[in-house]
Amino acid sequence: MLKHCLCGEEMSLGLRTVIFARKVNINNVPVYNCPGCGRNDVFPGIKEDVGKLVGQLGAKPTPGSIPFDQVHEWAGVLSQALNDSDSLQATAIAKATEERIDRLLDLLLIASSLEDEAWKSEIHMRLSQLSAQYVS
Ligand SMILES: [Zn+2]
Repeated sequence: MLKHCLCGEEMSLGLRTVIFARKVNINNVPVYNCPGCGRNDVFPGIKEDVGKLVGQLGAKPTPGSIPFDQVHEWAGVLSQALNDSDSLQATAIAKATEERIDRLLDLLLIASSLEDEAWKSEIHMRLSQLSAQYVS
């Protein structure tokens, strides 16, 4: 989970609101922050998904806010881990990830037994969002 800033300080991972086109608040986006120089970096594994979301909003988005932790599983897991402890600890994140994956696999069993293809592919998409963290 640790990352060092260009300035040499250790960055900390947290959930922040990213404002897009001055109109849309994207809440609970995983972002690394540097206490030394104030630099913010969107968590590498989710950059592409934030980009996709912004792409869907288009050039003239309707003002409002989007709870990213409900759109993206990894943000959801981090938000769960933050609920369980005051700061984001690797162990709490690992526990929350494991629980969420177990839950999604349970759902996948139900979706399979119902032969609900649309639901199954949605669950596969959510599971892949959780593995994106390792890609970074
Ligand atoms: Zn820095």
